[in-house]
Amino acid sequence: MNNQVIKHLETILGRDYVLHTVEDLAVYGYDGTFAEGKADVVVLPETTEQVSLVVALANESRLPVITRGMGSGLAAGSVPLANGGIILCLTRMNHILEIDRENATVRAEAGVITADLQAAVEKVGLFYPPDPSSIKHSTIGGNVACNAGGPRCLKYGVTGDYVLGLTVVLADGQVLKCGQKTLKDVTGYDLNGLFTGSEGTLGVITEVLLRLVARPLYAQTALADYDSLLEASSTVNAILTAGIVPASLEFMDQTAIACIESAMHLGLQTDVAASLIIETDGTDAQTVLNEIEAAVKICKKKGARSVKLARSEIERSNLWKARRSMAPALARLSPNKLGEDITVPRSAIPQVVQKLRQISDKYGLPIAIFGHAGDGNLHPNILFDKRQPDQWEKVEKMVAEEFETAISVGGTLSGEHGVGVLKLPYIERALGSVSINVQRQIKKALDPLNILNPGKMLPN
Ligand SMILES: Cc1cc2nc3c(=O)[nH]c(=O)nc-3n(C[C@H](O)[C@H](O)[C@H](O)COP(=O)(O)OP(=O)(O)OC[C@H]3O[C@@H](n4cnc5c(N)ncnc54)[C@H](O)[C@@H]3O)c2cc1C
Repeated sequence: MNNQVIKHLETILGRDYVLHTVEDLAVYGYDGTFAEGKADVVVLPETTEQVSLVVALANESRLPVITRGMGSGLAAGSVPLANGGIILCLTRMNHILEIDRENATVRAEAGVITADLQAAVEKVGLFYPPDPSSIKHSTIGGNVACNAGGPRCLKYGVTGDYVLGLTVVLADGQVLKCGQKTLKDVTGYDLNGLFTGSEGTLGVITEVLLRLVARPLYAQTALADYDSLLEASSTVNAILTAGIVPASLEFMDQTAIACIESAMHLGLQTDVAASLIIETDGTDAQTVLNEIEAAVKICKKKGARSVKLARSEIERSNLWKARRSMAPALARLSPNKLGEDITVPRSAIPQVVQKLRQISDKYGLPIAIFGHAGDGNLHPNILFDKRQPDQWEKVEKMVAEEFETAISVGGTLSGEHGVGVLKLPYIERALGSVSINVQRQIKKALDPLNILNPGKMLPN
C-alpha cells in the first residue's frame, strides 16, 4: 500500500487510529479459528462518516476492506486473507444511541458488545434475546453480519428476527439507511434481510435498530444425564413434539462434558454418554415450573439416568457457565479444534449424532459434539494437532463427511457462524449453481469492484 493512502487515512481518522506496525497487523490478523492473515493497515473509525470516507478511498484505490468487530468469528470471515488491504475495525463505535421503551427498540452503533447491549436494555425491563455464547466478546454489528444465534434462539429466534433497521456504508461510500421502528414494513425489497448475514461482503453495518421484547421474569433450568447418546438426542424431539417450547435445549456429549469438568470443576458427571440442559422461561412462575416439570418427566421416560433441577440462581448460572465455557475448555484438550455448526431437521438429530460418532471412529480423531439441539444446530468439534500433516489431511476429509451428512438429511452447512472462508469449498454443493449465480449477481450489483471482504462467502 502506498504512503499516500496511509496519509489520506490519517487525515480522515487521526494518526492514533491508523495502525500499521508489524505487531498491530498481527493482532488484527486472526479470529476464533486457526486462520491467520496480514492486512496493510488497520483503521479504527468512530463515526459512520469516517467509515464512508475510508470505504470510498478504498474503492477508488481498489483496496480490499475487511470489516471487523471483535474478531470472535468462527469462519475466518474477518481474517485478512486477500492480498493486503484495510482492516476496518468498528470497536470504537460502541455507543448505545437510544432505548425507546414505548416502542421497545434499541438503536446502537455496530461496535457495541452484545452483553453490554443486553444489560442496558434489561435495566429498563426490556429484553434482547439472541445470546451467542460469545456475548461478552462479540459486537452487535458482527452478530448482525453473521446472523448470530445462541441457546435462547429456540424460543426467541435469531439476531435477524430482531433487526428493524440498519445503517450501511456501501462499497462506493454511500450511506444507506433501511428500515425504521415499525414492526411491519413491506415497502420495497427487504434490505435488512439482505445485509443481515452478509458477512461484510455487501456493506459495512455502522448502526443497528433492534426490536426488543418484555423481559421474562422467571426461569427454570434442568440438567438431564444419559447413558445413551440415542436416548439423549431423541429426548429433544419428544419434548418439542409434546408442545413444550423451552427457551433453550442444549446438547453436550461425553467428550464435551468431561472437558468442561476438568477445566471448571462444577461437579458434572463425566461418565455419562450425553447431557441436555433444558431451560423454560416466562412471565408466570407456575407456567414456567409446569413446563420444566413436564420436560423432566419426558427426560425420565426417555431413559435419563438422572435429572436435576437447578435449585438456586447459583446452580442455574453454573450450568450456563459450563455450557458457555465449552470452547475454551476444549482448547485445553488439543492444540487445534475445528468446530462446525451444521444444522439439520430436528427429527434427524439422533441419526446425525450417530453418524458423527462413526466419522470420529473411522479417522481416529475425537469429535466433541454439543449445540443448540432444540433448533437442530450441532457443533461437532474435531480435536487435532495441525502441525501433524496426516491429522490435517484427516480433518479435511472428516469435515467434508460432516457436511455431506447434514446435506443428506435435508440440513445445511451453517446455522449461525456463516460461511467465511472455511465453508467455501462446500457452498455450491449445499446451495446449487442457480442460487450461487443469483448471489454473485447481488454481490456484483452492490460491490462491482469486489473490494468488500473479497474471497469470502462466495466461491470465485
Ligand atoms: C467461544 C465462542 C463462542 C461462540 N458462540 C457462538 C454462538 O453461540 N452463536 C453464534 O452465532 N456465534 C458464536 N460464535 C461466533 C462469533 O462470536 C459470532 O459469529 C459473532 O457474531 C461475531 O461477532 P464479532 O463482532 O466478533 O465479528 P467478527 O468476528 O469481527 O466478524 C465476523 C464477520 O462479520 C463481518 N462483520 C463484523 N462486523 C461487521 C459490520 N459491522 N458490518 C459488516 N460486516 C461485519 C466480518 O467481516 C466477518 O465476516 C462464538 C465464537 C466464540 C469464539
